[in-house]
Amino acid sequence: MPKRNRVTNDSGHKKIQKRAIPLLLSCITTFPLFSVQSSANSGIDVYPPNWWVGMQNSNVELMLYGDDVADDTVSIAIGDVRVKHSQALDSENYLFVTLDTSNVSAQELVIRLTDSDGTTRDFTYTLEKRAQGSASREGFGPQDAIYLIAPDRYANGNVENDNVKGYGDPADRSFKGGRHGGDIQGIVDNLNYIQDMGFTQIWTMPMLENAMDKYSYHGYSTTDYYKIDPRFGSNDDFIALSTEAKSKGLGIIMDMVLNHIGSNHLWMKDTPSHNWINNNGKFVGTTHKREALHDPHAIASDIKGFSDGWFVPTMPDLNQRNPHLANYLIQNAIWWVESAGLSGIRVDTYSYPDKAFLSQWTNRIMDEYPNFNIVGEEWSVNPAITAYWQAGSHRHDDYDSALPSVMDFPLQAAVVEALSNDESWNSGFISVYETLATDFLYGDPNNLVIFPDNHDMSRIFTQLGHDKDKWNMAMTLLLTTRGIPQVFYGTEILMGNEGSEDHGIIRSDFPGGWPSDNDKNAFTGHGLTDDERWAQQRVKGLLQLRKSHPLQFRGLLKHFAPENGVYTYIREANVDSASGADKSNTNQSDKILVILNKKPVDLPLNKYAEVLSTHQTLTRVSDGISFKTTDTLSLPAMSASVFIVQ
Ligand code: CA
Repeated sequence: MPKRNRVTNDSGHKKIQKRAIPLLLSCITTFPLFSVQSSANSGIDVYPPNWWVGMQNSNVELMLYGDDVADDTVSIAIGDVRVKHSQALDSENYLFVTLDTSNVSAQELVIRLTDSDGTTRDFTYTLEKRAQGSASREGFGPQDAIYLIAPDRYANGNVENDNVKGYGDPADRSFKGGRHGGDIQGIVDNLNYIQDMGFTQIWTMPMLENAMDKYSYHGYSTTDYYKIDPRFGSNDDFIALSTEAKSKGLGIIMDMVLNHIGSNHLWMKDTPSHNWINNNGKFVGTTHKREALHDPHAIASDIKGFSDGWFVPTMPDLNQRNPHLANYLIQNAIWWVESAGLSGIRVDTYSYPDKAFLSQWTNRIMDEYPNFNIVGEEWSVNPAITAYWQAGSHRHDDYDSALPSVMDFPLQAAVVEALSNDESWNSGFISVYETLATDFLYGDPNNLVIFPDNHDMSRIFTQLGHDKDKWNMAMTLLLTTRGIPQVFYGTEILMGNEGSEDHGIIRSDFPGGWPSDNDKNAFTGHGLTDDERWAQQRVKGLLQLRKSHPLQFRGLLKHFAPENGVYTYIREANVDSASGADKSNTNQSDKILVILNKKPVDLPLNKYAEVLSTHQTLTRVSDGISFKTTDTLSLPAMSASVFIVQ
């Protein structure tokens, strides 16, 4: 195999000249013997493919991948950065090079690799200027509402990319576990629907390349951390989605997988080092016993069994204790935030990677973006476990986590329990009440992401026995209690998965997203049943309420202990933290009153004088009917009533 290919490449040369500064041109003139190529044309792959100047951490560690690159010496042929360190691992085809970018301006570097026999390979590397305000970007927060989309199953905006040459797992809409053709363009085409509903953030399941032989549609088997899967679109398409979404007041939350890769990743064919993949690159299943990480009585092997075990044989488990891999994953996250203007990150299987690495990963990202938001998926219904990961939580040890948010699985389970069980002293709404009462465990309960269901569990309509009154109570509660609500696409039109727990059924196609969906279109409302249309309007109404009263939903929750199947709470602005700017908000003194009741009830409102005393009228959100705070409300069974109290 020829070791070097240093043939001058015209396109590489042009790339240099197009962006050239006079100094660069003069260098090329002075040294006509070397030919500069872009990394792709020099046979060297570089990760990250570019970087920025003015980052909080001025070091960037490049992973160079190329034929026999490990023993090369690295120097800067053009540019004023310093090579701080270079490190080879076990494979002869990887070299890790740390550049020091402190006090330099944006520029195009020429990096030179010199072999022991004196032959050289040069390639260009761009240090870009950061977008204005990048470091101070604001992440999603308690005033927001997140729409969770399975991109393959939402809308097919480009049928041309359903199958792409070189990729297996061909599109087959009739197969529940197959690719159905949905893509980035499908989301772009329907941003108006998402905006009109009242969502302010979009979390998509991962869209990075999953070049797997089958079951690749879900996106959790990454085969290239720097490339959008071409069946969803290109990197530029993803960036365009983010830009277009932002213009409509919608942030983009990227789903990231730090724990594992897909087994077709290059790292499985050419592994950088012997300790890159846990369990020596061989499948050993994780125990899923996350408690071992917290348990004061835990055996060391149980901790290792949880962290180092794999999910499935097609998902090799990464060893983030390797500092080069840790750096790779940290920089990859920052690269996407910076490149695509993200407003947040959702981290898959949050607690499964190395615990010390998670501390490092969250701290590095929050150092770069202090106002950013990241939510971790820790699937435990025990608040003591979920709270452990959130920044600022009370802990039994000195673990340092900078993770701003976690998914509130405990509350999700409590809501289903509350609505599935009869009311008694220890069942029914008391489940929700007790769960929220443990909020003292969390560093910031208002910043938890709350949800009725998601892409990994039965849809809430099914969990609640296809009872639309219960659905309404669950949705009302989760769109008005403390936290940041997340709604899974289709939940707003009562999508269910009756008779199947299969993920491919849970993630069914959104009606109207495919050119052939003539009978039913949820985007336009065409063909929806009365119930589906009612549900969609209900979600929209509650989302609009959140938009008109952001201070209340960022503010306080005060709830009354459930009594006779009635659960009541209010949301109000936190006057202490309201800034001068907030005071210009005319509805700052409004309160939002929510009453959930199972049996028919006559409720004298003076019962709630403790929170309503200074207010006079209540306006019911669903029908606009007004009441006085001295009235007695007659509520039918199984109702979820929301009032604006003025
Ligand atoms: Ca498509």
